Amino acid sequence: MEKIKCLIIGSGPAGYTAAIYASRANLTPVLYEGVLPGGQLLSTTEIENFPGYPEGISGSQMMEDLKNQALRFGTDVRFGVVTKVEFKQNHNLVVIDGEKELEAAVVIIATGASAKYLGLADEAKYAGMGVSACATCDGFFYRKKTVAVVGGGDTACEDALYLSRLCKKVYLLVRKDYLRASKIMQDRVLNNENIEVLFKQEVTGLFGENGVEGATILKNRGGEEEQFPLAIDGLFLAIGHNPNSKLFADYVETDEQGYIKTVNGTPVTNVPGVFAAGDVADPRYRQAITAAASGCKAAIEAERYLVENGDK
Ligand code: NDP
Repeated sequence: MEKIKCLIIGSGPAGYTAAIYASRANLTPVLYEGVLPGGQLLSTTEIENFPGYPEGISGSQMMEDLKNQALRFGTDVRFGVVTKVEFKQNHNLVVIDGEKELEAAVVIIATGASAKYLGLADEAKYAGMGVSACATCDGFFYRKKTVAVVGGGDTACEDALYLSRLCKKVYLLVRKDYLRASKIMQDRVLNNENIEVLFKQEVTGLFGENGVEGATILKNRGGEEEQFPLAIDGLFLAIGHNPNSKLFADYVETDEQGYIKTVNGTPVTNVPGVFAAGDVADPRYRQAITAAASGCKAAIEAERYLVENGDK
C-alpha cells in the first residue's frame, strides 16, 4: 500500500492553498481533485472580490493559477475521488475510486459544498431538460429564452445577472419580501431591465411536454396564497449549498447541517491529524478568500502535528 505524509482531499481554493503551503513545508502532499476538479469557483463567472485582482478574474482562470502554483512547489495532483476513509491516528486509510488504497499520516479535508435543490419531484423529472443549479454551466442553452432563478442571496443575484446577458427575460423568485444578497448585487439586479424580481413567490412544480415549459408559482399575498403558471424555458436553483462531509461523518464531528466542526476558528477537528478547510467546515463565510485562508491554516497545523508526532 502506498504510504504518504499528507493527503489533501479536494481541489478548490482551500485544497490548493493547503497544497501550496504543505509543499513548501516539505510535506510532499498528494492532492486528489475529487468529483469536480477546481471546485465551485468553476461555476462562477467573474470573481471581483479576491484581493490582488483589481480587474477581477474568471473562476476557471483562478483555479488554473492555483493548481499551477501548487504544481510548481511539487504537489502530486491526482485525478480521482476518495470513496472510503478509516481514520486511525497517524495511519489514516483511504480508498480512491473504490480500489486504490493509501495510508496518510495527516489528512486535510477540503471537499467543499454542493448545490441544494428544492426537493420537488419535478426537479428530478426535468434534470438536464430545463432544471439546473449552475447558471454559468448551462446558461448558454437558454440564449434568447425566458428563465427563472430561485433564491435571494449573492449566488442568485449573480446568476440572474449572468443570465440577463444571455436570455430574453429573467425572473428572480425570492421566497421572502427582501433579498439577502450584498447591497451592490441587489442594486445591480433591481436596476437591470431584463430581470423581474418576484418577492414572496415560490416554485411548487414544473410542467412541459419535452422539457420545462413553465413553473407553478405559489404567491403569498398578505397571508393569502394564490397559485399561477409562469411560462419559462428553464429553472435555475441558487438556494445555497450542502457541505460534502458525509464520507467522513463516522469519524469527524459535524453540526446539524453537516458542516465539519472545528476548534476555535482553527482547522483542527476532533480527530487528531485530520484537518478541515474551506466550505465543508464553514457555514458562515463561504468565500474563496476565506477558504484559501483556512487551507493555509490547515497546512500549518498539519506540519506542526507531524513535527510533534515525530513524523517529520
Ligand atoms: P445564501 O445562503 O446566502 O442564500 C440562499 C438564498 O436561497 C436565500 O435567499 C434563501 O432564502 C434562499 N432559499 C433557501 N432555500 C430556499 C427554498 N427552499 N426556496 C426558496 N428559496 C430558498 O446562499 P448563496 O449561495 O447565495 O451564498 C452563499 C455565500 O457565498 C454567502 O456568504 C454569499 O455572500 C457568498 N457569495 C458571494 C459572492 C460574491 O461575493 N461574488 C457570489 C456568490 C456567493 P431566505 O433568505 O429566505 O433564507
